[in-house]
Amino acid sequence: MINIIGAGLAGLSAALTLAENGIKCRLISAQQSERAQSVLAEGGINAALNTMGENDTPELHFEETMKGGCYLADPNSVEALTQSAPAVVKKLAFLGVPFNRNANGSIMLRSFGGQKKKRTAFAQSSTGKMIMTALIDEVRKYEAQGLVDRFPHHTFVRIIIENGKCNGVCVRDDSDKKLYDIYGSVIMCSGGLNGFFPGTTTGTVTNSGNAASVLFAQGVKFANLEMIQYHPTTFAIPGKRCLVSEAARGEGGRLFSERGGKRCYFMEERYPELGNLMPRDVVSREMFRELQSSADTFLDMTGINAAVWRGKLSDLRSEIMHYLAIDPAKKPVPVQPAIHYFMGGIYVNERQESSIKGLYAAGECACQYHGANRLGGNSLLGAICGGITAARNVTSDNSDVTEAYNSSEPFASVPSPMFVKETGAVLTRGLGIIRNASELQKALNELNAVKCENAVELARRELAAAMLMSALERKESRGAHYREDFPETKEKYRRTTVSVYENDRVNISFEDIPERRNE
Ligand SMILES: Cc1cc2nc3c(=O)[nH]c(=O)nc-3n(C[C@H](O)[C@H](O)[C@H](O)COP(=O)(O)OP(=O)(O)OC[C@H]3O[C@@H](n4cnc5c(N)ncnc54)[C@H](O)[C@@H]3O)c2cc1C
Repeated sequence: MINIIGAGLAGLSAALTLAENGIKCRLISAQQSERAQSVLAEGGINAALNTMGENDTPELHFEETMKGGCYLADPNSVEALTQSAPAVVKKLAFLGVPFNRNANGSIMLRSFGGQKKKRTAFAQSSTGKMIMTALIDEVRKYEAQGLVDRFPHHTFVRIIIENGKCNGVCVRDDSDKKLYDIYGSVIMCSGGLNGFFPGTTTGTVTNSGNAASVLFAQGVKFANLEMIQYHPTTFAIPGKRCLVSEAARGEGGRLFSERGGKRCYFMEERYPELGNLMPRDVVSREMFRELQSSADTFLDMTGINAAVWRGKLSDLRSEIMHYLAIDPAKKPVPVQPAIHYFMGGIYVNERQESSIKGLYAAGECACQYHGANRLGGNSLLGAICGGITAARNVTSDNSDVTEAYNSSEPFASVPSPMFVKETGAVLTRGLGIIRNASELQKALNELNAVKCENAVELARRELAAAMLMSALERKESRGAHYREDFPETKEKYRRTTVSVYENDRVNISFEDIPERRNE
């Protein structure tokens, strides 16, 4: 029996793959699948299906993913990702995902940032919801056969490490707060670190980051924690940032800044080749500079024709009208960059194995596909492929569950909202779009002064420190990590930043990126 923590896209994908191979699993999650962040995904999923007559290939998809990630991703993982993408999307279509179609019935693809070919398959602007609906339905069949056991409303407490190996996981039933030790291998699919940045991220803060923090405190190796993606086009709604999908620019939306009533289409002027569809790190930095020079920044979608609004972006239009009372087909929408995706996370190899035997990770909590910057449309793909790969490599063993127990288990404590707010504010200041040593050091000092009342707060503080320290140690600019004191990219830093908590302190080092095998 395998234990999967997290029932978003990566968790469902792992569960489905195990079940298809007759292997039983427990799907354990704080919230049910229908509420996972994966449901929010709008724009689409990448695959070189070549249905738009552009001679696209998986090799080009590979090259653009590596280039977009500034050559920090694991090339062998990216190779597997991009080669398997067409089959993954075809299977999703087979499972009932209502992808938009061309007149000849083939899957329609749209343009997304950092890619010269149309490569992003989409279901209007609700791709995540549609994919999740299909997978939830498919996994349900295996639940009925007893191959998948669901445990929603159960929270990760810690992994059980015996003789250096992960032999299981301790979880809390959120209804009666009782703890269970569950034995067997573990696949972590607990999503990104959004909960570290309350109010300033497009993602869900129910992905609290507690699971990652505890794993870090337990000695699991993390990588590239400084690589935090800002999405260029978001607007504020109560408690979080709302995304205007890159699909809007893929369908013709144009960014401009306005000063004294004069418009400047800065991306088109500065980057004639890809313009508004440059990778997100570049667009976010340009927007930040415009905002710094006291311009306002807008996304002009008024040139998108009525058929595209109706057929490809109707959900996005109604969302903007709902929250901003602006019809984007008629008026430009004020937008600003905000935190959106975490390229870094649990350090895994191409088999999704973490640094601790018996512990695997997939989806946004893991690190290996996206390097220094994720291409839009690659993370839904990464969550599915990572889940499949972990499920294929995990070994099934002892699967006992202990009787429910009450204990003063330290990692069963919870952080106070005040602690989360305070550390969030420090991190947001230190890890902005443009960084420098003095701001990072100041943030680190402030962070170390924040009082911790329990083991989970301590664990969170150490992981937060690792983010800042990784950003301090990478003395160059690459992808999402821009240092104004080190603006150039340096070959000696084309290495993975590794964070480990050992002997009560955070250690940062750099490790070589694996060589590509199949060149
Ligand atoms: C607004 C928005 C739009 C996006 N659009 C796109 C897009 O168009 N294309 C694309 O490729 N990507 C997109 N992304 C990114 C993509 O949606 C995510 O990277 C991906 O869905 C992550 O899947 P996951 O399974 O790793 O995590 P999630 O779907 O976040 O699932 C995490 C699971 O872990 C559980 N969990 C978390 N913490 C705990 C805990 N402590 N204990 C137990 N369970 C826990 C949660 O309950 C959940 O079940 C978008 C993201 C956002 C926020």
